[in-house]
Amino acid sequence: MTAVGKKQSFLIIGGGFSGSLLATILAKSGFNVTLIDRERHPRFAIGESSTPTAGFILKSLVQRFDLPELVPLTKYGLWSSQYPQIGCGVKRGFSYFFHQPGSQPRITPAHDNELLVAASQSRETADTHWYRQDVDAFLFDYAASHGVVCMSDAAVTNAKFSSAGHWEVRLNSTGPPRQFDWIIDASGAGEVMSRLTGRPGRMEAPFVTNTSACYGHFRNVPRYDDLLNDAGLDTSDFPFPSDDAAQHHMFAAQWLWNLRFENGISSLGLVTDLNRRNESDWEEMLSTYPAMATLLQEAIPSAATPELRVSGRMQRQANQGCGPNWVALPNTIGFVDPLHSTGIAHSLSGVERLADIFLHSQDTSADVSAYTSAVYKELHFIDRLISGCYKLMPSKRHFEAYCMLYFAVAHNYETQRLELQASRAAPGIFLSDDSQVVDLIEQGFELACRIESSDDWTEPILFEQQIRELISPVDRIGLCNPELRSMYASTAVL
Ligand SMILES: Cc1cc2nc3c(=O)[nH]c(=O)nc-3n(C[C@H](O)[C@H](O)[C@H](O)COP(=O)(O)OP(=O)(O)OC[C@H]3O[C@@H](n4cnc5c(N)ncnc54)[C@H](O)[C@@H]3O)c2cc1C
Repeated sequence: MTAVGKKQSFLIIGGGFSGSLLATILAKSGFNVTLIDRERHPRFAIGESSTPTAGFILKSLVQRFDLPELVPLTKYGLWSSQYPQIGCGVKRGFSYFFHQPGSQPRITPAHDNELLVAASQSRETADTHWYRQDVDAFLFDYAASHGVVCMSDAAVTNAKFSSAGHWEVRLNSTGPPRQFDWIIDASGAGEVMSRLTGRPGRMEAPFVTNTSACYGHFRNVPRYDDLLNDAGLDTSDFPFPSDDAAQHHMFAAQWLWNLRFENGISSLGLVTDLNRRNESDWEEMLSTYPAMATLLQEAIPSAATPELRVSGRMQRQANQGCGPNWVALPNTIGFVDPLHSTGIAHSLSGVERLADIFLHSQDTSADVSAYTSAVYKELHFIDRLISGCYKLMPSKRHFEAYCMLYFAVAHNYETQRLELQASRAAPGIFLSDDSQVVDLIEQGFELACRIESSDDWTEPILFEQQIRELISPVDRIGLCNPELRSMYASTAVL
């Protein structure tokens, strides 16, 4: 049954979607699995906008580990028709609107203030925004239905690795210690194992990205496209409705995410580049950008977030990602930023790799260690893809060109997964294990650093050309093409 030939026991700390998914896969494969969460579902969670990359990995998990009940979660059309009780929103792609202080929105034929990038070819096959309260509760129950022992309001108060080679763990300071062969830390920012076993204190995240966010759920947020149309602006050449997307409103040194769920709730979050300004100020955003004041004039905070949640610096990296018989999922090892919505995909890629290791590895400890090193590299790579965008945010054309680094590697990764033979291992997420790709992203990042430090935004054409040349080895879809006037309709793999 297992690589080591005995029925091993696992404790998974953290019943978010990734902990529950991995618990289910391991339990279905015959292991004894206990899953604990310090909270009780349903509970508010952030990290809601999925991507085609996440969809590809989820589909692969569903097929390889025989999880047919999760098929509807892989596409908007199936989800909305088969699981209407699990909140979701439709995501056709990424939309960006650049705002000027005090100015009403303006749409020009050249789309000087907009960027839309399609991620799916139809509403039916579209990605989704995950209403995490519902999704996480569903997956926690799903784990229980496959034999996982699921415990809410439970936290590890003491964990000791015994000389006999197993963990002795106390939960909530009560009862006798329980024994587990392995611990998987899926606690996200909780970083439980790194704190219990590692050096005290959290390492300053070594990322260039330096942002904070304030966010919440709201009711009564109208569709932005309706506001544009009511103002007489023409959106007829948008490749998809900009609200059926991860909608980004871009300001100087800040941006606002706007994700619509079908249950009438919208998730909104104001992200601030701390390298350029000190803090987020929601009210100031409303008073500075008239379109945002109009969009949110009747918005009512939902019950889950009566007050905005405030994050502090979002970037974090754990001191350790693994140790003797324990390992952490990617969102516990670190997190960079919500721009580009990389988190769900990264988490799912961790589930996939750890499932493979525990089911098939001949040398689990060595493979766990290699996985952990890879995740640290991936976080660095994601930081490069994101931090360059923040550097170039003052200029829409520079920002847009730099975003194409992300879209090029994401699309190429997804295409490679589509073409993948069952026998071949998946490429590193966003091609982060391809040295040629890592090198070209580094070159793009260097260019972004130079432009930021020169503060010279006068040559976007030159920068666009440089990025186009850089991505040419991986770009299969003609990104960074000025003829498309920032309206990318044909960028979806499916
Ligand atoms: C502001 C923000 C916006 C984001 N937006 C996006 C986005 O749009 N798209 C995207 O793809 N990603 C986004 N992310 C990233 C996304 O949130 C994560 O990738 C995702 O939540 C990872 O899920 P998970 O199940 O691994 O961990 P988590 O969702 O972090 O779940 C961890 C679980 O562990 C539990 N826990 C914590 N501590 C303990 C403890 N001591 N004992 C027991 N249980 C514990 C928690 O209660 C929770 O249930 C965002 C992140 C942030 C911070």
